[in-house]
Amino acid sequence: MSFPSQNAAATNPVATGKKIIIVGAGIAGLSLALSLRKQWPNGPKPPFLSIYERETREAILGREGYSLSIRGDAFSGGIQVLQRLDILERMLPFSPLALSSRRGSFNLWSTDWKSLLKFPIASDDGGSSPTGMRIARAVLRRIMMDAVCEAESGPDPINWNKPCSKIETLPDGKVRVYLGDGAVDDCDILIVADGASSKIRAQILPEDKLQFTGVVCISGTSTFPDGQVPSPVDTDWGGVLGGGGTGLFVSPIDQNRALWSVSFYNETPRESLRYPIPDDQVESILQEALERGQHFDQPFQSMVRSTDPSTLMVFNAMDKQPFAHKDCPGFGNSSIIFIGDANHAVSPFAGNGANMALLDGWGLAEHLIKGEAMAAAIEKYDRESIPRSAATVKQSHWSISMLHATGLKLFLYRLMLRVVGIYLRWKG
Ligand SMILES: Cc1cc2nc3c(=O)[nH]c(=O)nc-3n(C[C@H](O)[C@H](O)[C@H](O)COP(=O)(O)OP(=O)(O)OC[C@H]3O[C@@H](n4cnc5c(N)ncnc54)[C@H](O)[C@@H]3O)c2cc1C
Repeated sequence: MSFPSQNAAATNPVATGKKIIIVGAGIAGLSLALSLRKQWPNGPKPPFLSIYERETREAILGREGYSLSIRGDAFSGGIQVLQRLDILERMLPFSPLALSSRRGSFNLWSTDWKSLLKFPIASDDGGSSPTGMRIARAVLRRIMMDAVCEAESGPDPINWNKPCSKIETLPDGKVRVYLGDGAVDDCDILIVADGASSKIRAQILPEDKLQFTGVVCISGTSTFPDGQVPSPVDTDWGGVLGGGGTGLFVSPIDQNRALWSVSFYNETPRESLRYPIPDDQVESILQEALERGQHFDQPFQSMVRSTDPSTLMVFNAMDKQPFAHKDCPGFGNSSIIFIGDANHAVSPFAGNGANMALLDGWGLAEHLIKGEAMAAAIEKYDRESIPRSAATVKQSHWSISMLHATGLKLFLYRLMLRVVGIYLRWKG
């Protein structure tokens, strides 16, 4: 996948002096806000940004316990965006392995934790910047939020606890945003970054719904005494194959926490559960995870037994294909652009949704700066974003198939991984 280039700005960028509203201070919305400020050229009047976020800052930072893979490989590019935004350095100290000599690796393991395939995290230039990192989602977002506040003069540009309930295109092409408290706000350009269950997508493209991938996940964060996260999850992360139809993903979060996620096919979606889950249900969910994961060797059992109950989740892996903006009703009469999961939601099996949200923000900002006409800028953005997100959805379905394979299918996947491993070692 190609990383957007930094070409020259237009003499009169399409976003010059415009009022832009971003709905959702998630990874995509914050990436766009930072990218516009970072790439804006000297001369033209910068746009005025206003961000509406449904949650309070405290709620967002308080409960997001899981960690994310931010990647710099050819199929991704989140690391490069963070580098260009000058915030990667601030994140590295919170990604314990990124700066250590034991940077760890992404693995596919057998149930006894023998590595079938391994991708070590390298340094891109022999220097200190890694080619990938695991980082707590809350930390990534905090650093991005702080950077947005620093980049804007005046009060916090993020309007917290302000859900957007609907939008309306006005006769002059402006977009009116209706907020949960009854207030309205008009803008020239609306960026929809309100995540996988986007309310605005449901309004504009009601048929374009999330699809159940067929897989249910039970996940949690285990807490261990400082520095005693069991091997190999103290340094390495990845998936375990061969669990009799049950998949397992594990990852370190920091010195004393690690994440586990057990997954399995189910005919229908299950009721999603998150904090607060009643105590008696916590026990039965943990028991279910242990039973479903009976084929996995230690430290799986220790991880499940050390789960912090407030981090336990049961959720359905959902996704949807990306859509082109030219297919939205009213395209060309107003400027409404969907980025991140609001456009192309992917399940955790992609391990790439946050990376694409970062890339969307950077790439769209570039086209709003390089382009002089809005429709053309959006079409150029779509030409970059749609292929990479469609490929990610496809790859996630493949990961699902591999992690839950049994019988002959499992045998063939293992064989393929060995061949790939030999090839990669041969290539050095
Ligand atoms: C368990 C799990 C593990 C994952 N692991 C990885 C990984 O390893 N690597 C990776 O790259 N990706 C991973 N992902 C995917 C990644 O988290 C998402 O793709 C990414 O967060 C999408 O960013 P976003 O900004 O589009 O949406 P979000 O991060 O969901 O942000 C949307 C924001 O909009 C706000 N909002 C929602 N509705 C409204 C409204 N009506 N009005 C105002 N604000 C609103 C929300 O509160 C939120 O702050 C994982 C996801 C899960 C669930």
